[in-house]
Amino acid sequence: MIRMAVLGSGSSGNCAVVETEHARILVDAGFSGKQIRERLSLLGRGIEDLDGILLTHEHQDHCAGLAILCEKYKIPLYCNKLTAGFVKSKWLPKFSEWRCFETGSSFVVKDLTVQTFSVPHDAYDPVGFVVGAGGVQAGFLTDLGHVTRLALDRVRLCRALVLEANHDPHLLQNDTKRPWAIKQRILSRHGHLSNEAASKAIEFLETSEMSHLFLGHLSPDCNTPDLALESVRQALGQKNATHVHLEVAKQDKVSGWIELF
Ligand SMILES: [Zn+2]
Ligand SMILES: [Zn+2]
Repeated sequence: MIRMAVLGSGSSGNCAVVETEHARILVDAGFSGKQIRERLSLLGRGIEDLDGILLTHEHQDHCAGLAILCEKYKIPLYCNKLTAGFVKSKWLPKFSEWRCFETGSSFVVKDLTVQTFSVPHDAYDPVGFVVGAGGVQAGFLTDLGHVTRLALDRVRLCRALVLEANHDPHLLQNDTKRPWAIKQRILSRHGHLSNEAASKAIEFLETSEMSHLFLGHLSPDCNTPDLALESVRQALGQKNATHVHLEVAKQDKVSGWIELF
């Protein structure tokens, strides 16, 4: 059995926790050390109890807590070499507990198995993760401009999935705060997934195995939880997958623990 919770998700910070009886890891650390401590304590856990941090890519909304968690608490950091190069120079000059992996490889953290796979996003070498134990898997698929066959293949059998539903294309087009170049970046094949793209991905998943689906990395200006939920709920309905517990991962609120058997 594994347990997971999303500490928060969105353009201002991303972090989730996965644990078994023997291991506990974060996926990304995109809040301040203080915020991560507070959010973990709401789940009854502490920073000291962590066995590692898996890092998807070097953007600030995934790295903001690394300086405290890694340099102060010496928590091992799992990332690929290109990501490590940037993170080391920007946040972790003195850190030594690097656990570098090749993108596409798998490794273990105690009794957790971690699969890594490449995703298309405007970062050095961005990855998604599938974390599993005892035949149960949780997938993390955010920060990607389009859904690749490889990514779908990797997360296809996940019991729980955090899937990006970043924006509604119409709200993004009509947004007055963002300059044209930023909109182009978000919409590009190396930007972020729309609600529509997330819904389309559902078609390819083995939803009979799935119990929880979190929609993550929602844009606060160019999406609403209702729009994202409506779009994905329809896709689940078309697959007769109404048993899947669907929720939006919030930016400012910790999800409860979910247990995956
Ligand atoms: Zn992000
Ligand atoms: Zn990013």
